[in-house]
Amino acid sequence: MNEEQFVQVKHLKMIYDNGHEAIKDVSFNVKKGDLVCLLGPSGCGKTTILNMLAGLLTPTSGEILFDGKNVVKVQPKDREIGYVFQNYALYPHMTVLQNVMFPLTVGKNKISKEEAKKIAEKYMALTQITELKDQKPSNLSGGQQQRVAIARALVMEPKILLMDEPLSNLDARLRLKIREEIRTLVKEVGITTLFVTHDQEEALSIGDKIILFNNGVIQQDDEGQNFYLEPNNHFVANFVGNPVIDNFEVEVNDGLIKGSDFEIKVADLDQKRLKTELSAGKYILSVRPENIIPAETGEIKALITDVELIGRERILKFDYDGKQARSLVDLETPIKTGDQTCLKMRLDRIFLFTADGKRVY
Ligand code: ATP
Repeated sequence: MNEEQFVQVKHLKMIYDNGHEAIKDVSFNVKKGDLVCLLGPSGCGKTTILNMLAGLLTPTSGEILFDGKNVVKVQPKDREIGYVFQNYALYPHMTVLQNVMFPLTVGKNKISKEEAKKIAEKYMALTQITELKDQKPSNLSGGQQQRVAIARALVMEPKILLMDEPLSNLDARLRLKIREEIRTLVKEVGITTLFVTHDQEEALSIGDKIILFNNGVIQQDDEGQNFYLEPNNHFVANFVGNPVIDNFEVEVNDGLIKGSDFEIKVADLDQKRLKTELSAGKYILSVRPENIIPAETGEIKALITDVELIGRERILKFDYDGKQARSLVDLETPIKTGDQTCLKMRLDRIFLFTADGKRVY
């Protein structure tokens, strides 16, 4: 077995009955034991991919291999996967213990009630719901229901765990807690996990790697930090990062990058980061707010229109070309609303994209 390619998705395509092409030629691999986040905006195709992996949807074309075996024609129940749905889908008339035991007590591989109870108890202990075993789902909090759904998905000891936005029904604080618990749990069990989310911070915090989609196409398949440092294209640069990246329209001409009131010499860029020679024309210059900060001299003169406190940092907001832009500074930076300041960009950290979003620097 090749551990690097425990899950292989090859040229997967999904066209729905109404003709909508939801997934367009998607290929990726998942390493055994990894927790991989499928990330992207609403409608980008995350659930469609998960449902094809689960066998709930048949791909229009392409292959899905689990542990080297093509499963496209294998029934969902025979794929050795566990699925945790967004709404948990617990059986309301059953207790927690009965819910968790249930998958073990049905189907052709069913085992005795006593054995099932033993296995259920192991996973209830791991998910910390032992004391709730006699409760009905309606008496549980969202976080507790989530744990029951995870325990129920794990009792069959599946090879692969699929989770579709499992935290979206929880409040912000609980989401942070449960996402850490999920990561600890799946690492403890050692199960290969695909986790769908539209929340970039969630993906960055728990994913061994992230696959970012837009319009049914992979935009980047990478480790978290590379989405910040080396975004593949303008969509990725915009999607990942909080506060969002600043974008300035610029024109390259005669060795200069000209914004509406600043100029940067092409020669001052880090030449190693240039992907191609910069031909004359229009580009988008993007810079993360932490890389455009107040200084005695700088490319942009800004009037600070608002200051927002976010935990240990502050966002200085300013208008540029009729659009709001941001600079991220620490609490000590002595700047307030109404101040005029110069902002300096870190030229080794800016990005340049063509008008259609291709990265050139
Ligand atoms: P969300 O985060 O909102 O759940 P998603 O990324 O999971 O979104 P999908 O549910 O996979 O996206 O949907 C991908 C695209 O396919 C969307 O444009 C959606 O409208 C479309 N789609 C989903 N199911 C069907 C269907 N049964 N028939 C036709 N189109 C569908």
